[in-house]
Amino acid sequence: RAKKDVQNRANYYAAEMEDETAWRLEMIRKLTDDFYDQKLQVWYQPQLDLQKNKIIGAEALLRWPNGTGGFHSPLTFIPLAEYTGLIVDIGSWVLEQACIQVNRMTEQGFKDHRIAVNVSMPQFKNTMFVETVASVTQKYHVDPKNIELEITESVVMDDTTVVITALEKLRQLGYTVAIDDFGTGFSSLSYLHKLPINRLKVDREFIKDIGFGGDGILAESIINLGQKLGLEVIAEGIETEEQQEFVKRLGCHESQGYYHAKPMPADELEVFLREFNSKHN
Ligand code: C2E
Ligand code: MG
Ligand code: MG
Ligand code: MG
Repeated sequence: RAKKDVQNRANYYAAEMEDETAWRLEMIRKLTDDFYDQKLQVWYQPQLDLQKNKIIGAEALLRWPNGTGGFHSPLTFIPLAEYTGLIVDIGSWVLEQACIQVNRMTEQGFKDHRIAVNVSMPQFKNTMFVETVASVTQKYHVDPKNIELEITESVVMDDTTVVITALEKLRQLGYTVAIDDFGTGFSSLSYLHKLPINRLKVDREFIKDIGFGGDGILAESIINLGQKLGLEVIAEGIETEEQQEFVKRLGCHESQGYYHAKPMPADELEVFLREFNSKHN
């Protein structure tokens, strides 16, 4: 009886695993098709300078339509794109869109707005990464200072020498670099000190309980750490005025989150920028 149960369970899990693998393969196939059929989109989420109360730029975020009016979550499809290496092509395309967006904003009078793009490990590992970034940026005549590259702590810690070399080159070329989701990875603090980076992005994890029973002590510690290291600090996932006031009081430089705006298509971003500026000037 017990043996039978175990066998049944094993068969059940084997079938589940097959389903899971089939589902992943199907997602990968559809993602690849849709990407090369140009069905992916890049949306933008505004970033605010807390002292000047001005929008200073936006983060570029991938959107993959799911065919029923919604979108697949990047949290499920980005890992698949990383796994297959497709993220290298997708990443260059996102950067290209970001450059186009910088130019569109400049034409509309939003000068020196910065677009941040997320960069995955397989892109960084690619020996052509820095050259690709530089050639895309040059193709669109965009000043590298208007492009920020976001990398997560896990990327930084994965292959430190490769990453530092690439970051140093990027910095020399004038790009800015932010450590994304800061505090959720495991970067060694002594190492962080040596990294050629410009900004820490405090993860939403440390923000979300502020005003809902949390004391914000970890957010505070990260903001202090960033300041001591001479880095700019941006808080992500700011959803309420209270959360924004909290990080602002601690000297956090910038904020990004639903409180100001959710990610939106490029044309809506331009409307948002015009309205925001007319309200706050
Ligand atoms: P991320 O880079 O940390 O981006 C921030 C995520 O938090 C975005 O989710 C954004 O929509 C969401 N968010 C922003 N403000 C708030 C808020 O106030 N409340 C809540 N609950 N969420 C907020 P999204 O767009 O689903 O992207 C998820 C992740 O997928 C990104 O996290 C990033 O790691 C990855 N990703 C997105 N686009 C790209 C891309 O072009 N390339 C790469 N390599 N990764 C990307
Ligand atoms: Mg990011
Ligand atoms: Mg983040
Ligand atoms: Mg993230």
